[in-house]
Amino acid sequence: VTTPGPRASVGTALLLDGRAPAGNLLVATELVTEGGARSAPLRGADLLARDLCRAGLPVSTGPLLLRAAPGADGPAWAPRSGGGRAQPALAADGPGWFPPGDEGPLAVLRALTADAHGGEKGNDEVAQLLGRAGPSLERWRDAVGPHEVRLAAPRSFCAGVERAINIVERALERFGPPVYVRRQIVHNAHVVASLERRGAVFVQELDEVPDGATAILAAHGVSPAVRDEALERGTLTLIDATCPLVAKVHLQARRYAGLGHQLVLIGHREHEEVVGTMAEVPGRIDLVERTEDIGDLALDQSAPITYLTQTTLATDETADIVDALRARYPHVEGPPASDICYATQNRQDAVRALAPDCDVLLVVGSTNSSNAARLREVARRLGCRAEQLEDAGELELAWLARSPVIGVTAGASTPELLVEELIDSLRTLGPLEVTEHSVTEERTRFPLPPQVR
Ligand code: SF4
Repeated sequence: VTTPGPRASVGTALLLDGRAPAGNLLVATELVTEGGARSAPLRGADLLARDLCRAGLPVSTGPLLLRAAPGADGPAWAPRSGGGRAQPALAADGPGWFPPGDEGPLAVLRALTADAHGGEKGNDEVAQLLGRAGPSLERWRDAVGPHEVRLAAPRSFCAGVERAINIVERALERFGPPVYVRRQIVHNAHVVASLERRGAVFVQELDEVPDGATAILAAHGVSPAVRDEALERGTLTLIDATCPLVAKVHLQARRYAGLGHQLVLIGHREHEEVVGTMAEVPGRIDLVERTEDIGDLALDQSAPITYLTQTTLATDETADIVDALRARYPHVEGPPASDICYATQNRQDAVRALAPDCDVLLVVGSTNSSNAARLREVARRLGCRAEQLEDAGELELAWLARSPVIGVTAGASTPELLVEELIDSLRTLGPLEVTEHSVTEERTRFPLPPQVR
């Protein structure tokens, strides 16, 4: 290849030790010279390797040793800081190949062999293996290059999530591990894993918590029966991490039911928050998940009707459902202020401001995070390609094809560190410009419960 741009070098290489099996593909993460004193990193190698794994190919990653350097200086060779190489080369190229100078991104893919002649694998088999890597190489080619990342703000933790995590951390400090938490404290696998490492034990139900222990209720709220169960046992130190904005919706449910209103809750049936709110006044709330459900309602037109909503819904979709509800029941009333919380609203507003100018929007958040899923939906309704990923490890080359402008946001339960790791991963594809686009500043803070103040 003579013009600058993504290039791929494909062939076989000799395994240097037993760190990878013969017959695997090697995606070289860097090229090293004999002795390892100089090296050239290869952009996006880890992303390419993961793409090949997803395609079902056997893949190893590591440095590739270039044995002979006939005159050329290689691609952006740099002396290793601190002298020797950090990781020994995994395989060696036969003499004779040496990449030209730094003319753009380079992918180096090798079928690993145990001897210098292709060994145990025939030429056809090696060619077939390398041929199967073609689509991944094409995706890598289309993804590498300069990108601009536009960070939505606000993003990541809201006040309710910060408070809930803080409660577990302080309980661990004050009462010592183990501290038991009913269900995921917030809907993020990384947060849960990090608290587990520090001594939190996550359980499904309170009957799994031993007598005398400290038990924490998660941020999404619980039904009164769960709290009653803990109080009846009388042996648990119970700390409630329910977000005050969720608790407000519970209170509204009790209040309007007490006033004799018929209640409609707009939300997702399986979500823990909805389960908790419905249980505040059992049998007194009709659940509406989508506009079509309104046809199934059989409410009394002559009696008051009040609707409430889950705190983490999409504001535009909810407005459509409320309009449809009003069309059927013109006297329906909403809560004094929207139940959709400030953090949900702000993160969605930030996406609305950003998405139309992005080629793709990446939403960092666990699959069971309602508000992260809504951010992806909001962007898609605006015609922007949007993908949700747990962390940088789930980033796919296919999402980035010919997408120079990448929007990034994160759900309210996603640690900011995961956003930073995603940006680091994007940086491996080429030069990156990062700008932040804020629609508002958040100052909301919630006080901690007395047990951990
Ligand atoms: S998203 Fe809103 S309701 Fe949910 S925890 Fe955060 S502040 Fe509370």
